[in-house]
Amino acid sequence: MVIKEKMNISDIDLAGKYLPGNDEISIEKEVQIPENIINKFEEISGKENVCHTNDERANHAYGKSYPELLKLRLSKIENPPDLVIYPKSTDEVVEIVNICNTENIAIIPFGGGSSVTDALEAPKGGISLNLTRHMNKVLKVSEINSSVKVQAGMYGPDFEKYLNTFSSGYTCGHFPQSFEFSTVGGWIAARGAGTFSTAYGKIEEMVLALKVVSPAGSIETKDYPADAEAWDLNHIFIGSEGVLGVIVEATLKIRKYQANNAAYAAFLFKDFESAVNSMRQTMQAGYGKPHLFRISDPEETDVAFKMKGFDGTFSDSFLKLKGYKPGKRTLMFVVIEGDKDYAKFIKNKIKKTAKKNSGFFIGGKPTKKWLEQRYSSAYARDPLMDLGIITDTLETTATWENLLPLWEEMRAYLKNRPLTTVMVHLSHVYENGANLYITFLSPMKRGDELDDYYQLHKGLVDTIVKNKGSLSHHHGIGRALSPWMKQQYNETELGLYQAIKNKLDPNGIMNPGNMLGLG
Ligand SMILES: Cc1cc2nc3c(=O)[nH]c(=O)nc-3n(C[C@H](O)[C@H](O)[C@H](O)COP(=O)(O)OP(=O)(O)OC[C@H]3O[C@@H](n4cnc5c(N)ncnc54)[C@H](O)[C@@H]3O)c2cc1C
Repeated sequence: MVIKEKMNISDIDLAGKYLPGNDEISIEKEVQIPENIINKFEEISGKENVCHTNDERANHAYGKSYPELLKLRLSKIENPPDLVIYPKSTDEVVEIVNICNTENIAIIPFGGGSSVTDALEAPKGGISLNLTRHMNKVLKVSEINSSVKVQAGMYGPDFEKYLNTFSSGYTCGHFPQSFEFSTVGGWIAARGAGTFSTAYGKIEEMVLALKVVSPAGSIETKDYPADAEAWDLNHIFIGSEGVLGVIVEATLKIRKYQANNAAYAAFLFKDFESAVNSMRQTMQAGYGKPHLFRISDPEETDVAFKMKGFDGTFSDSFLKLKGYKPGKRTLMFVVIEGDKDYAKFIKNKIKKTAKKNSGFFIGGKPTKKWLEQRYSSAYARDPLMDLGIITDTLETTATWENLLPLWEEMRAYLKNRPLTTVMVHLSHVYENGANLYITFLSPMKRGDELDDYYQLHKGLVDTIVKNKGSLSHHHGIGRALSPWMKQQYNETELGLYQAIKNKLDPNGIMNPGNMLGLG
């Protein structure tokens, strides 16, 4: 109802489904890999693990970006892989990569398929190498080193459950909103961030060691807590988006799982700027940081309040009287984990900082409620698309001094388009700045849905770059953002990426065209 009101949706639109995507899929591109090579793959991984049915090819043709979902609704499958292979071991991956390198067959490493950057398409056909069926196990937990060695194809919930129930209980601490449908390998390859990243760190701060199979050979880094053996090879592969090799194993840090100790808080601020100031002051104060730290800008706050039925309640009237007005007021959520005394201490400190910035403490319940729906809320996109609404997200990061101007410019750009709802939150926070995560809803241009979207998206990315935001904070580059890499990096810098690519993947078979348009 909130969206119906905001976007002027009629009852007729509500009754039907726009582009329901019910047509049977047809894949026009024939399988290009010769039968004798397919036989070789079948000998390596078994016939049941080498698939070329239309369903398998279609399931691996896309990730989950808005234009990809739209293309599926339009029955467009332009770049499917020829084959999907589910290898059972690192040795099999080595054999498959070697054959592909010799025969010039593309490989697209495939995790959970939750990429939102068009990173999984197969413009040159080839193989979608899916590690989730077999290479999905924890290999070793070291309690003394506080680390876990895990195969890259393990899904988030299986991994976390294993750790939570191991011995006295551990956590990985990485909870992207796609947690249920993404894998350890995908987290590393896309250089992601989870909801609790402000204290646990992004995935790159969790990786101790990696095993990677590249066309040039295998690389296995060591799990030192830190070292100075020249530069850090892990960082060549973290964020490599499948263009250098297949990550088969990772050793990650783990922490004690102490969920019962967690302290929760929520605040309402009079305006966005005060909330941002409070967040920055907390991060720079030196008293420690929370695990979840999140601000919803005024439009996101208003939508949340309306959806929860808070508008018009007694508490709402009270808050309005105190100066917390719709259109300006801003919600903040906080969770601190770890030792009980520590969690309590940080919560009190954050409360004091918030109070100095007009932050009104509204208890811990709103944060707990938000956490309950943090995964499911991300999938509101599909029913909104049924109504003919573009529903997309983009994320960036900026230093504190650039953050507010960037927020204003992004909003102004999107708001130029009639009936557009723009909700922004900050959810990964640092001493030096934070990310900005934009969710926008806008009516589709019926009959010209894709081109219209691409135009809107291009203008938004241009606005971000012009206002000193990064191309991504945690989704990665993929094919969706690769055209902007030339603007962000000079020839020497791009040449360096290309040189690494040439060394590890001389024939350009690894996820061709992804990330930098390399290969
Ligand atoms: C609803 C939704 C919410 C999301 N929320 C978040 C979020 O909170 N935080 C976040 O960081 N991201 C988020 N994402 C984006 C996405 O889930 C992440 O990028 C995730 O890390 C991808 O993992 P995956 O296993 O699904 O990888 P895939 O989507 O299968 O692959 C992503 C990229 O990694 C490469 N790759 C995958 N596995 C390997 C491997 N073993 N070796 C080498 N390369 C590999 C692929 O080739 C591709 O380039 C979200 C996506 C959706 C749809």
